Amino acid sequence: MKILLHMCCGPCSCYPLKKLRSDGHEIKGYFFNPNIHPYKEFKQRFETALEFAEKVNMPLEVDKNYDLRSFLQRALTAEKREETLTEKPRCRMCYAWRLHQAAIYAKENGFDAFTSTLFVSPYQLHNVMKDVAEKIAKAVGIEFYYEDFRTGWDEGVEICQELELYRQPYCGCIFSEEERYSNRWKKQHKKKMKKLRESM
Ligand code: SF4
Repeated sequence: MKILLHMCCGPCSCYPLKKLRSDGHEIKGYFFNPNIHPYKEFKQRFETALEFAEKVNMPLEVDKNYDLRSFLQRALTAEKREETLTEKPRCRMCYAWRLHQAAIYAKENGFDAFTSTLFVSPYQLHNVMKDVAEKIAKAVGIEFYYEDFRTGWDEGVEICQELELYRQPYCGCIFSEEERYSNRWKKQHKKKMKKLRESM
């Protein structure tokens, strides 16, 4: 199959690419991630994606458009909706935007299917992403190639170390940067979750 591999970053691409190639698929990478902030981090990640593609000899399309304002508008609108214990509405929006763009690119450029390196991460909302991708595939009219790449997470980390790729310390958006580093945010979040659980 000719598959478009949406890449969230270089490190997360290591295992999915290896697995897809070993299963006989023809792969092109596609970097579209307007969720990554600030700009220096965004630049570092697409440069790492380019470095990875060169090292593994994979064709890659990079969208270098840094769409900070659109992302923030969409994220804040999503966050206004009620947050549940199992899902962050901001992340659903973020997956949907990126996967939708990948599906359209795949459809317009003659691919058989699309998938994403996001499916390797144990830190993402895997079932939410799967649900989003399936709906997008139906709407756009292209196959979504599903595989749970999480089984290869450790192998991917090893490949990433061998290739000496930059590994990012947080998911991508400015909110995830806060969640990663702010102790105040962590305390507030813990309280909020406790309250939510008690009210259920
Ligand atoms: S935490 Fe990650 S998946 Fe969620 S909105 Fe931010 S960048 Fe997107």
